[in-house]
Amino acid sequence: MNKLLDLHEVQLDIALDEGFSTWGTCDRLSIYDNDTALLGDYKTGISQIDHPEENYQALAYTLGVFQKWENIKEVTFVFYIPQHGSTPSHKFKREDIDEIRQKLTDVIRKATSIRPKWESNTISIDDLNPNQNCRFCKHEDTCPALGFLVLEVAKKIEPKIPEVDLDTVEDPQTVETLYNIAKIVSAWADRHKKRAVDMAKSGVAFPTPRLRSLGATSSVTDTQRLLEIAESFGVTKEEALDIALVPLGKLGKLIGDKAQKGKKSEMQQFFVATVEDEGILQKSETRYTLS
Ligand code: SF4
Repeated sequence: MNKLLDLHEVQLDIALDEGFSTWGTCDRLSIYDNDTALLGDYKTGISQIDHPEENYQALAYTLGVFQKWENIKEVTFVFYIPQHGSTPSHKFKREDIDEIRQKLTDVIRKATSIRPKWESNTISIDDLNPNQNCRFCKHEDTCPALGFLVLEVAKKIEPKIPEVDLDTVEDPQTVETLYNIAKIVSAWADRHKKRAVDMAKSGVAFPTPRLRSLGATSSVTDTQRLLEIAESFGVTKEEALDIALVPLGKLGKLIGDKAQKGKKSEMQQFFVATVEDEGILQKSETRYTLS
């Protein structure tokens, strides 16, 4: 086979039926003998990926190649998935393009009809398909499908919860109930996330996610010694203090501890007031919670 073309990052515009279209960028395309293509996409993540025969990204890119190069009779689509050590592939023929175009059109038509319902709050759970992949979706925090799922849980916790749009309800009693349910559900979720991480740390291998370090924070236990070391590197104590953040609360307590008995708290408050008067106190925005 003679390789005629080897392209990277190929932008594909894909024409569908009924005036719909889509687009995508495939990682790699090689064309052999003018009529055979190898289309590859690298998946560096760990998630399970549908086989190219069923995968809508593979279908769309394949159709895009058939449409852009009309002489191509056969496209082999490959996913390169190093984390799984696998390269699932499927050979598509030009005769498949009507079926592929139909499949893609059906999906885009459905999505196009559902999004306005989402905006107008007329959507039903049957219109959506929440599943484990929702965790990758950019709509995860606003999707009504997830609200429908949580509603089932909410009804178990509080059967009297009214049949209203929970995302827009303003009745204080209902909002309070939702707040309480959210606290219960998030505590449950945090516990299970922690449990899964603990299991991974102890060596358990899950089918999909892998243990990933988020790094560890470092702190110095001896500031005096730190400043001496910095000085030996040519940084004066004054220069170091310019970039240091001295904890106001701890310093205030130290000052309070030096005051005579009965005056500790007063001295602490006086110290903070003095710092404030100097105009060197910067307060962050006040945080709130309900209790
Ligand atoms: S969060 Fe909603 S829009 Fe996103 S994948 Fe899940 S069901 Fe679909």
